[in-house]
Amino acid sequence: MRAVSDNSMHGSPSPLALPQVDRELPLYLRTSAPVVFADGFYDEERHGLDAFRWMRESGRLAFAPADVPRFLEVWVLSEFHDLSQHLEVSCGPVRERIPLLTGWGRLSLPVPAGTDHVAFTVNRIFPREYYPDDSRTLSVRMRPPLLHEDTDRHTHIRRQYANAVANTREMLEGRTALASTPPSLGIDLYGVCNVKPPCVYCEWDFAKALEGRHVDTPFTLDTLREWGPFFDNSVSLVNCSIGEPFMMKNIDELLDAFGNAGKVLEMTTNGQILTDRNIRTLLGRPIDLYVSLDAGTPDTYAKLRNQRFSTILENLRRLVEAKGGPGALPHVHLVFMPMRVNVGELEQFVRIAADLRVDRLVLRPLNYSDGIALDWERGGYRFEYQRELLPFEELVRVSGRAAELCRRYGVELADQMDFGGDLGERFAELFQEGRQSVMVEPGGEATREATPPGGDESSTQTPDASAVVAGPAGAPVSPPSVTQSVESHDALAGPSFDGQLALADGHSAPIEVRPVAMPAEAARPSLGAERKPACTEPWRSLYILRRGVLPCCYGGAPIADMTEYRSAWNSPLLQDIRAELAAGRFHAYCLKSPACPIVRKSVQARALPVRQAVYVQLRRGWTRFDRMTRGGAGRLLHWSRLAVRGARRVLTDPEYRRRRFARRLPN
Ligand code: SF4
Repeated sequence: MRAVSDNSMHGSPSPLALPQVDRELPLYLRTSAPVVFADGFYDEERHGLDAFRWMRESGRLAFAPADVPRFLEVWVLSEFHDLSQHLEVSCGPVRERIPLLTGWGRLSLPVPAGTDHVAFTVNRIFPREYYPDDSRTLSVRMRPPLLHEDTDRHTHIRRQYANAVANTREMLEGRTALASTPPSLGIDLYGVCNVKPPCVYCEWDFAKALEGRHVDTPFTLDTLREWGPFFDNSVSLVNCSIGEPFMMKNIDELLDAFGNAGKVLEMTTNGQILTDRNIRTLLGRPIDLYVSLDAGTPDTYAKLRNQRFSTILENLRRLVEAKGGPGALPHVHLVFMPMRVNVGELEQFVRIAADLRVDRLVLRPLNYSDGIALDWERGGYRFEYQRELLPFEELVRVSGRAAELCRRYGVELADQMDFGGDLGERFAELFQEGRQSVMVEPGGEATREATPPGGDESSTQTPDASAVVAGPAGAPVSPPSVTQSVESHDALAGPSFDGQLALADGHSAPIEVRPVAMPAEAARPSLGAERKPACTEPWRSLYILRRGVLPCCYGGAPIADMTEYRSAWNSPLLQDIRAELAAGRFHAYCLKSPACPIVRKSVQARALPVRQAVYVQLRRGWTRFDRMTRGGAGRLLHWSRLAVRGARRVLTDPEYRRRRFARRLPN
């Protein structure tokens, strides 16, 4: 059977022929029919993986009529943050007025039998001040649409969109108790891993201890049924397992269920068991597959995991080949977390990404935490977690360097270190230093020719990290330091944020929020971003994981047991977090979450109120001290607290005193 792929998700022309797959196609793909951009649209443009067309103030999509009712599924991007842009839709007798979500949102529109087009009009255009050098009139972007006969899918997508609009409305109104459910759901597919011992930066033991009685809780179709509206209303699923999803026996049926319900799935794998069967399972599915590689050579990979570097490259080559090259589904993203051990291999890594023709290279920071004390001897290398963390300045330089290398090698970069969308703008000098270190590096071309793409299997040298990331003037790189505190886990690192960085230096002052690409000095019409809270995650996301429920993928401590996700969603703690963020402040929970990039960037930019900055530093110092004493300081503090509490009760509660000491008196 030849398959077609749901590329409407990411904008490639649809339908698209793919290699043979051995599963039945879902109804919406079996019944899909061609649609053309008829009037009111400009030529197709590409932005990385995205293919789209800008619409003028109005536009029309056309298709051959059919004698059955159908549904038009289309992704639309609005630049407005406050639901103030509407799309008027007209299709035969059907008229609708749809508020548009910021960014890409997916609509599903009923198409009555006999109809041959759908017409659109917007109430507001994208203000011209944002594209002064472009003479066009731009309103919204549209990806290639999908026309099908699948009523269930239409129902799913309508429900998801309605929930996402309700969720945004509640967020804009500053509500803390939400009637909507999270549009993005963090899930925990599988808790077992094939890499043993675990990757050197994985807090495996800590995570499994947190998972406790849920460590073996299976993830099945029953889980989805039990979640009810939490699953049904969500648009995207992000797998945050401490485990390898391709070890699951029931992965096929789960991926079918996700696909049929119109979900977009993000999933991370170590790539070591991408067998032919698993590759077939993935083909044509709307999945963003993140492959943790983190090394440009087999030697460095051996220091992080094991000897299977070449196997993974071969697996990826087969996967990209089988899916039909870049752009086809699933999207394959190669992940690099810069650390002291691998930062010198960034260029080799970019070349591997180019050679394998993956869809994106993802730059993701190693989680900052003063509390992680991992210490491994592997591949002839001593990996001490704290020593591997690069200072913030160095990370920004790596960011700039990656941007330049990816540009040079034609690789699309997703920089998850650019947390607020303005890393390069806010830390321009450091970012530029990173870029220039590529431009001025002597012998760069010669190095590229000497090392074949895919890595030199016989290499035993890891280049000196500081030499690579030093600025053009050869300024010395400061030693590694850590800037945050308490435990977290790398596997929680996930999607990038659109949360804004700058917090007012005052407890009740309003937050400064700027559209991501907007220079501070430019006076442009508002797109409504100032109405959004400092971070939108606690409205948009909920992570239901074996180790507990988290309000965001960077949250430090779980806020509830995984079985209590319903009550956790509107719990007093989560409502408090929302209230603080809506008021332009970080909640204590955020300050205690060392991996949070938004807090971290605020610390670096000295944008935190003094009291919060002091709190973060004290907490960081304490966590370091506790680690140095191997947890002894923490235990001592715990017992001291219990003793003080007991003494206070003895002094203030006569009844307690009588009961306690009566037990000790002889009869
Ligand atoms: S820790 Fe707080 S600020 Fe950071 S992502 Fe989570 S909710 Fe947002």
